[in-house]
Amino acid sequence: CGIVGYVGSQTASDRPLDVVLEGLRRLEYRGYDSAGVALVSPAAGLDTAKKAGKLANLVEELDAHPMAASTAAIGHTRWATHGAPNDVNAHPHVAGRLALIHNGIVENFATLKAGLLADGVEFTSETDTEVAAHLVARAYDRTGDLTQALTEVARTLHGTFTLLAVHADAPDVVVGARHDSPLVVGLGEGENFLGSDVAAFIAHTREALELGQDQVVTITPTGVTVTGFDGKPAQARRYTVDWDAAA
Ligand code: GLU
Repeated sequence: CGIVGYVGSQTASDRPLDVVLEGLRRLEYRGYDSAGVALVSPAAGLDTAKKAGKLANLVEELDAHPMAASTAAIGHTRWATHGAPNDVNAHPHVAGRLALIHNGIVENFATLKAGLLADGVEFTSETDTEVAAHLVARAYDRTGDLTQALTEVARTLHGTFTLLAVHADAPDVVVGARHDSPLVVGLGEGENFLGSDVAAFIAHTREALELGQDQVVTITPTGVTVTGFDGKPAQARRYTVDWDAAA
């Protein structure tokens, strides 16, 4: 339901987690039933935490079991469509060294899941989303390129989706894709942001890019690249958020 992404300086810190939790707090108004985060860093690899219920439950969990410093993070608040609202079905969904979050519905997940099961892939949740996590992880193993992996998979999904993914092998990158579901980029200095709406990063920057339909975005601490589902360079609309809500 709500999505936040962040990538910052190469030196691992608490900032990625802080930014993502702050963003999720500002997206709480949309309603949700679970919340979760995934962090990556060169030293600690991939780490995730997720909890059914209020964001406060996740924060309590993080207080009890602090996460390692990181360079990039993604965060999600879920409004369950496939699978009960519990800890396991909460996002992020992990496949190997990749974590993925999703707003929307993957309509053709049953067909895709059957193919993965036949290939021996093991599922841990009842969500439509988990198929996308396994597919992107497998495409990454084949291509070694997170943007290409997400692009290939986005082309095969039907339904509505905003997807974000991080991979332990690429700890200075967050990738996102959208189809019939919003995704906005926040432009920072030495850091960049992603959000399902600008509330996700309004505390940090008002310079934004609105992704168009069927676009993929790759953010690093110093760069933002936008492509189409066809893999070709694409344009996103740049604007300054005119909104007095940064307080
Ligand atoms: N369809 C996904 C699920 O049920 C994502 C729901 C959402 O948009 O939060 O897990």
